[in-house]
Amino acid sequence: MDALPFPYPTSLVDPFARPITYLRVSVTDRCDFRCVYCMSEHMEFLPKRDLLSLEELDRLCSAFIGLGVRKLRLTGGEPLVRRNLMSLVRSLGRHLDSGALDELTLTTNGSQLATHAADLYAAGVRRINVSLDTLDEAKFRAVTRWGDLKQVLGGIDAGLAAGLKIKINTVALRDVNEHEIPAIAEWAHGLGMDLSLIETMPLGDIEGDRTDQYLPLSLVRARLGERWSLDDIAYRTGGPARYVRVAETGGRIGFITPMTHNFCESCNRVRVTCTGTLYMCLGQEDAADLRAPLRASESDQPLVEAIRDAITRKPKGHDFVIDRRAAKPAVGRHMSMTGG
Ligand code: SAM
Ligand code: SF4
Repeated sequence: MDALPFPYPTSLVDPFARPITYLRVSVTDRCDFRCVYCMSEHMEFLPKRDLLSLEELDRLCSAFIGLGVRKLRLTGGEPLVRRNLMSLVRSLGRHLDSGALDELTLTTNGSQLATHAADLYAAGVRRINVSLDTLDEAKFRAVTRWGDLKQVLGGIDAGLAAGLKIKINTVALRDVNEHEIPAIAEWAHGLGMDLSLIETMPLGDIEGDRTDQYLPLSLVRARLGERWSLDDIAYRTGGPARYVRVAETGGRIGFITPMTHNFCESCNRVRVTCTGTLYMCLGQEDAADLRAPLRASESDQPLVEAIRDAITRKPKGHDFVIDRRAAKPAVGRHMSMTGG
C-alpha cells in the first residue's frame, strides 16, 4: 500500500530555485521515421524488456504530478507507435479531471495522428506539437528517410477536425528548408497553427556532419524580418520558445535557440527516458535511474525519494557546442532516447 498522501507535501524545487513543473517522458525509443538529424539509418533499439511498461509509466508520471509537475508531455521516438499508448493517455487524463495536472500533451511526427486524434481529444489532450520540416514531398522523404508527407498532412487535418490545437515544430536545416520557412509559416498560420523553429542540437551519432545541417535561428529571424514585420510578444507555452507575432499573417512564430541563446535560467523541466532514466538537463550526461526504485516496491516511496534526490543535482545549464574539430557529439544519446 502506498502510504504517501497525494499530492505530496512538498514540491520539487532545484538548487537554483527553479520549480520543476514540466515533465517530458519518452514512451518509446522506436520510430517509423529516421529523420537525418535525429537518427542514423540503422538504429539499434532497446530490447522491449528494458522499457517501462505502460503501468510503470503511469506510476512514474503520477509520482511527478504528486510532486508538483503541472504539464506532462509524452514524446519519443514516436509516441503513437507505442502499442496501446492510448490506454496510458486515458489513464493519465484522470489527473486533468482532478485538477492536479494543467496539461497533458504530446509531440508526434503525425504519421499515426489520423487514427488517434479523436481519442486524444476525448482523453483530455487539447494541444499537441507536430513536427514537420518541409512541405515538399521529395524533401520530406529525404529528411525523414521513411516518412510520407501526405499521411502527415492527413493526420494534421484530422487533429484540427478533432478540435486539437496544433503547433508545428520545424528544425531549421541549412540548404534543406532554409528558404521554405516563410512558406511553412504562411501554411501553418493559414490553418490557425503556431510555428516553432528549432536549431539542430548535437545529440547522438548520425551519419552526416552536423555542422552542415546547423542553421542559426538568428539568421532565419533576420531574413524573416526583411520580409515581414515581427513583433516580440510575451506569449509563453511553458517551453523555452520566444515568440513573435507576424503582422502580415496574424500568426505566431517561436524560436527555440539552444545554440545561439542560452535559455537555461528559466528551465522548469526534466526528462525521463523510456527505460526510466531521469535526465535533469537535456545537454548534460548526469542522470538518475528511476526504474530500480519503481520496481523495488509497490509503494511509491522509494521512487519519490529517488526523484527528490536527483532534482538536488539539476545543473545550472548546458554547454552545447557544434564544432567541426570535435569528433563526437556534445551528448552521446539521441534525441529519440531522451525525448524532444
Ligand atoms: N517523433 C516525434 C516527433 O518527431 O515529433 C517526437 C520525438 S522527436 C525526438 C521531438 C522533436 O525533436 C522533433 O520536433 C524533432 O524535430 C526534434 N529533434 C530531433 N533531433 C533533434 C536534434 N538533433 N536537434 C534538434 N531537434 C531535434
Ligand atoms: Fe522519429 Fe521524431 Fe526522431 Fe524524426 S525526429 S526520427 S520522427 S523521433
